[in-house]
Amino acid sequence: MSENHPDGFRRHRRRPIGYREPASRVRDFRQIHRFHWDPEQLRIQGERCMDCGIPTCMAGCPIGNLIPDWNDLVSRDAWRQALARLHATNNFPEFTGYTCPAPCETACTLAINDDAVTIKDIERSIIDRGWEAGWIRPEPPSRRTGKQVAVVGSGPAGLAAAQQLNRAGHRVTVFERDDVIGGLMVYGIPDFKFAKHQVARRVRQLCDEGIRFRRGVTVGEDLSIDELTEQFDAVCLAIGARRPRDVAVPGRELQGVLFGMEYLCAENRHQAGAPLEAVMNARGKRVVVLGGGDTGADCLATAHRQGARSAVQISINPPLPKTRQPDNPWPQSPRIHQRTYALQESGEEAFSLNVSAFLDQDHDGWVDALELERVEWKRDDQGRRTEKIVLEAGIVMPAERVFIAIGFEGPETACLNDARLTLSPRHTLETDERKMTPVPGVFVAGDARRGQSLVVWAIGEGRDVARQIDLWLMGESRLPPSLQTRHPPLPPRGL
Ligand SMILES: Cc1cc2nc3c(=O)[nH]c(=O)nc-3n(C[C@H](O)[C@H](O)[C@H](O)COP(=O)(O)OP(=O)(O)OC[C@H]3O[C@@H](n4cnc5c(N)ncnc54)[C@H](O)[C@@H]3O)c2cc1C
Ligand code: SF4
Repeated sequence: MSENHPDGFRRHRRRPIGYREPASRVRDFRQIHRFHWDPEQLRIQGERCMDCGIPTCMAGCPIGNLIPDWNDLVSRDAWRQALARLHATNNFPEFTGYTCPAPCETACTLAINDDAVTIKDIERSIIDRGWEAGWIRPEPPSRRTGKQVAVVGSGPAGLAAAQQLNRAGHRVTVFERDDVIGGLMVYGIPDFKFAKHQVARRVRQLCDEGIRFRRGVTVGEDLSIDELTEQFDAVCLAIGARRPRDVAVPGRELQGVLFGMEYLCAENRHQAGAPLEAVMNARGKRVVVLGGGDTGADCLATAHRQGARSAVQISINPPLPKTRQPDNPWPQSPRIHQRTYALQESGEEAFSLNVSAFLDQDHDGWVDALELERVEWKRDDQGRRTEKIVLEAGIVMPAERVFIAIGFEGPETACLNDARLTLSPRHTLETDERKMTPVPGVFVAGDARRGQSLVVWAIGEGRDVARQIDLWLMGESRLPPSLQTRHPPLPPRGL
């Protein structure tokens, strides 16, 4: 137990910073998080950490953040030291402090029979304070190795890899096909979940550390892998896994049936000042979102903010149970039904529905309804769906905008145009244990290697691949191995 506050968890209740009221936040695109927090409240929350000896929270965190250390430092008002401990394992704690689903909290020892420590809020408050106080400065390396590394893709994996490699002294150039740096942190995750100035100030820091950025370059089209390997000593592909899974049923070609990602990106660009095409606007429309996951929730919340007339999120599966099942014990993330932030704002959810057609009843080329069937599934011993039993067919649901958010099928490798890069059975880029592809010196990190995952995993992947590249270039590395490498983490939460 902590020497300073051995019984903090008995004296204080959990009090997170929390979110803005759903009824008010749904009227704008500003962050849903409460803007202001009280340092004293956070200090007290830090006291609730009992420093239990076996920090299961750290095993729950994919990058092994040194959670008990910074909880203790915050509880003693030592914010600047807390920031240093936070940055020791996480290049961009604001990326995670605002977006992470916090598997660390469900793994917290207190969560066995009490409320977990507000770990994510403490992380956010440390990094918010660090920026506010001007403590976050460029840290260029003191020496250069003479090696050049190309990083392809500027999402959290690419940026973390770039910063680590640059700190090891290599000259790093990041190639990004989009006009803005940041990957899904900028085009994908809605502005109200993560404000984009948070990426821009990190990019300024990385530039000041000596990293070069080349926007608007699609590797595979503008520049081949061969050209990269000729010009650079190593290449890191951090191209994400954005190929969306489709619904191949009649009427798919109708106007108003869109991939959720197209819709979310259009609204991101709109928030940055671009005009919004009529098809991307749900104002006054009846919206149906296909897919019960997080991307679907973001589509629903965007539709609320655009002023949709109604919004329903449909899942092909039945709802999860209300309480933990025996095969899902602590410290695993609970697989239970929880109303998402989007549904807390408005809208409905519906389960066990499978779409059989998109309907154009007035023959104007636009979707106006969905044809659905109520289903039950037979599953194998891994829980995978094997057989569909139709309980009721021909259900018609009005819909003037349909957003398909039923998952992703791996990286968009077609644009890489290189037959030597192979895909795993899970449609991810295949690598060896060093994260290296069959092409010598070409490595992979992030969603491109793991499949669509979480920001925190992408940062961990970027850190790990940087160490592997450094080892490959120099024969040794002073970059830290991540917790993923040292201990296998807890099973991830299903998205
Ligand atoms: C809608 C949505 C919401 C999400 N919300 C959350 C959340 O709340 N919390 C959370 O933890 N995770 C969330 N995620 C998951 C998280 O965003 C990803 O796991 C993470 O961004 C992956 O990082 P990455 O760097 O591997 O890839 P990405 O962020 O996808 O970045 C890949 C980059 O590579 C670029 N690129 C691709 N091909 C090329 C090429 N040939 N040449 C040059 N550049 C190329 C792309 O343009 C892109 O910028 C969400 C995902 C989605 C889709
Ligand atoms: S990165 Fe996520 S899992 Fe790790 S400490 Fe922060 S909130 Fe928890």
